[in-house]
Amino acid sequence: MIVMKFGGTSVQDAEAIDRVAAIVRERLHEHPVVIVSALARMTDQLLAMANAAGTGDREKTLELSRAARERHFNCASDLLGTGRFVQIHSELEEEFNALDDLLRGIVAVGELTPRTTDNIAGFGERVSSKIATAAFSVRGIHASHVDSRKCIITDSNFTRAVPQFDGTNARLNEIVSPLLKHERVPVMGGFIGSNREGISTTLGRGGSDFSAAIIGAGLNAERIEIWTDVDGMMTTDPNLCPEARRIKTISFEEAAELAYFGAKVLHPATLLPAIQKNIPVLILNSRNAKNEGTRITATAPKSKNIFKAIAAKKRITIVDIVATRMLMAHGFLKSIFEIFASHRCPVDMVSTSEVSVSVTVDSNESIAAIAADLGKLADVKYQGRKAIVCLVGENIRSTPGIAAKVFSAIPDVTIHMISQGASEINLSFVIDEADVPQAISQLHKAFFSTVDPEVFA
Ligand code: ASP
Ligand code: MG
Repeated sequence: MIVMKFGGTSVQDAEAIDRVAAIVRERLHEHPVVIVSALARMTDQLLAMANAAGTGDREKTLELSRAARERHFNCASDLLGTGRFVQIHSELEEEFNALDDLLRGIVAVGELTPRTTDNIAGFGERVSSKIATAAFSVRGIHASHVDSRKCIITDSNFTRAVPQFDGTNARLNEIVSPLLKHERVPVMGGFIGSNREGISTTLGRGGSDFSAAIIGAGLNAERIEIWTDVDGMMTTDPNLCPEARRIKTISFEEAAELAYFGAKVLHPATLLPAIQKNIPVLILNSRNAKNEGTRITATAPKSKNIFKAIAAKKRITIVDIVATRMLMAHGFLKSIFEIFASHRCPVDMVSTSEVSVSVTVDSNESIAAIAADLGKLADVKYQGRKAIVCLVGENIRSTPGIAAKVFSAIPDVTIHMISQGASEINLSFVIDEADVPQAISQLHKAFFSTVDPEVFA
């Protein structure tokens, strides 16, 4: 069996869901389990509803809910034709009435709890999966809707619930496997689950990829397909560098390094349950289904190119901490990092010398306050409008002279900080934001002018 997960943009309207049905039909012989996100942007809108209700704004709440109801009804009626639409109409009507009751309840008590937030946030997947099931049936696919909340068992950490794999795997085998045996196509909402008491939970924003990995791992899928709206992962941002190539195959570790750098196709951490079982994950484009996409595997095949990709992350601030007063004192780094932690500010890159420490953080409003706190320990300077450039590839481990090659490719660019991580699969450095386009295009020319056809398209 295989898992096919379709993200929000792949199910954004009737036309998109129609394309999805055609893609699923092509794979029927492989026994797919289909997982869908909510219609594009729906989860944001549901959370806006929940928040409006929490602040007592009844008008706005019900207006948003009316719009969501209309969008789903239009989508279903465009997809289903009169006969089948009449059937699902009352079912959807009931769901949306229950949503409105819940929202009115929140307005009445004037309090929005994490538990109720999850109930509302997961609504989008509950209805999108029902509409997709009906659309598949009308198109001749023997689809069966499965309520993911009966299968994905989590703890009670609402809004970021953690799956309980024993319970989940047992349920998947009990509920989903028999459907596959009877040649049915199970259709499930991503993102949602429930705790042991049956109360609805969600796996955190973007959680549908996680659902796909959990379900694929639980059912020992041959592969997991993540269908989105781009052709896969690229050697660099095509907006910065039109010569960017599609990466055909990448290791999980490489993909994880890139995820931080806005290569926002997906967050590989969520694929872990699948990668640990050696199940390959493919990123595919539902608007261009013929494209091979990108294959993420536990270990990538060897590449003739040193790097797999070059990424840049803007809006970075460098904080320089010069420790004249604390020179040689032990526990200095600890006290510095405690200050960042107390402001809930993650530190990304660190570089130290005997008397100074430089760190990078995502530019944010707390930097002035953090600098003030650090100022009690040391002299502090900070500079924004920086960018981290990151080159990723497992060949970094085994290729000598890489730094020389990299920095001689960008002779005119000022380098503020350098880091080669212990993982030895990324080389990162900090430059001025304004230098990013030049640096990316020079580096891409230096390292991707000729590419290994096994690894790059
Ligand atoms: N619909 C959820 C979200 O937008 C989950 C997902 O699409 O992955 O976060
Ligand atoms: Mg997503």
